Amino acid sequence: MKKIVYSLLVCLACLLVLSSFDFDVALRNNMKLKDRDSVFVCTGWSSKRFHKYRNCWGLDYCRHKIKKVTVKEARKEGKTACKVCCKE
Ligand SMILES: [Zn+2]
Repeated sequence: MKKIVYSLLVCLACLLVLSSFDFDVALRNNMKLKDRDSVFVCTGWSSKRFHKYRNCWGLDYCRHKIKKVTVKEARKEGKTACKVCCKE
């Protein structure tokens, strides 16, 4: 009988971990970028990402100008979301 209680507790702990994980995912999804959101891009030819935050370390490597555009504009230029600061 004790064994059953123990495994139930383990299950409960698993559920708690899983649900907090889901919560995290849900939070990230809430941050999903919309077309009209503004993002930052490096104008250098080699940059292929757009960033949600100006202080993202991905922009530290930018040796050109950093400009603020909308997600739509950035996508039109062929840029994709930075994996560090954006979640698509
Ligand atoms: Zn970034």
